[in-house]
Amino acid sequence: MRLRFPSLAKCAVLLLIGTLVVATHIVAQIEQRGQSMLADETLKQAKLVAIVTENAHAQYSESVYGAHQAGIASTIEEFPEPGEIHFPGTFTHLMSSQYTSTNPGVTYRLYSDDPFERASDRVLDTFQIAALVALRKNNSAEYWRIVPGTDTAQSVRYATPMRMQESCIACHNNPKWGLKRDDWRMGEVRGVFEVTVPITEGSLSSRSENATLFALVLLSSLLGIFVVYPVVNREVARRAHFESLSKNLTVLAGTDALSGLANRRVFEDALETASHMAASGDSRLGLIILDIDHFKQVNDTYGHDVGDAVITGFGEIIKANIRPGDVAARIGGEEFAVICPDVSPEELARISERIRAAVEAKSFKAEYNSFRITTSAGATMLDAEDDQRTFYRRADRLLFTAKQKGRNFVCVAP
Ligand code: GH3
Ligand code: MG
Ligand code: MG
Repeated sequence: MRLRFPSLAKCAVLLLIGTLVVATHIVAQIEQRGQSMLADETLKQAKLVAIVTENAHAQYSESVYGAHQAGIASTIEEFPEPGEIHFPGTFTHLMSSQYTSTNPGVTYRLYSDDPFERASDRVLDTFQIAALVALRKNNSAEYWRIVPGTDTAQSVRYATPMRMQESCIACHNNPKWGLKRDDWRMGEVRGVFEVTVPITEGSLSSRSENATLFALVLLSSLLGIFVVYPVVNREVARRAHFESLSKNLTVLAGTDALSGLANRRVFEDALETASHMAASGDSRLGLIILDIDHFKQVNDTYGHDVGDAVITGFGEIIKANIRPGDVAARIGGEEFAVICPDVSPEELARISERIRAAVEAKSFKAEYNSFRITTSAGATMLDAEDDQRTFYRRADRLLFTAKQKGRNFVCVAP
């Protein structure tokens, strides 16, 4: 009984720890989902910038092509002289710088693994090489990766192919421009537009919300462990204490104080239960009723206190001479009973006789001398026709017969 409550409290602590673990997991998942949503958004932004840049570049190249045919020269200088126009690559480069100044961290670039002149010192990084290879080989429209960022934890690098159009080939394949090649073909992927967009947050606030949530769960768990658990435990201990106290009281309420045996109420309950059990099963039930002989004389001769001590001693003798499972009770002033479940008539007679002989053998002490007492007993077995009352009455009649036969005698029904 006592174990039930502490295990309940332990369950509560386990539950709190479980909650903490689950909460940690959920927070981590929210964080992860937030991150991936953020990466999606950033990717969309990168695509948009790439499309706009690519179109602007293509459109500008057409214009430059037309301008060249009209005799207008191109320059890589930031501020062209009158009558000059930027090269498409320069245009894109300047556009990128301007865009970056208003959108910190966002860059876009145009590059090729076949750089010319000024670009010849450019070294492609692993992403750029991979993007070129992938976009050429798979003929796909995009290549992107999430990579560690410079100012932020992560960035999206998004690449889209630069396909050769007439305006590109006209200049780049033309030896007149001093470019040492003539192998660029229409539609061929010769370069890449790359847009890098840092993944920013937004999620900084959601992170602090998560931290708050986590702190709350942690706090409530700690409260649970260090406040609720001890309170529950104390309450449990208190309840267990009262339970054992009330159990003791129940035992006391059913116990006769003088003899230490069961009292009359317990005897009657036990006799009723035992009778029913024996009647419904096939076990045999015996009943012994004992009465101290001439007990009045004991009181008269040695006083009431000595009489009380005799009742106590009588209780001890009965307890010492019955079997485990037998129920002994004081059912009146100097009258006792023993219920013997699952007993044979012979054994019942033996128990009765054993008690009688033990009483006769015991010496009781008074103030100046010692004395002996005797007891008479009636013992009988439960019959098929018996109810609790007829059973008891028969034993009582046998006790009366024993008294009539001169006392210190046991009368057992055949
Ligand atoms: P019998 O052999 O016929 O049983 O004679 P008896 O004297 O034992 O029977 P009786 O019924 O005449 O006397 C019983 C006495 O037991 C009377 C009563 O004062 C005494 N008695 C009953 N309860 C107690 C008790 O708790 N303490 C003491 N000291 N005496 C008690
Ligand atoms: Mg008596
Ligand atoms: Mg009596």
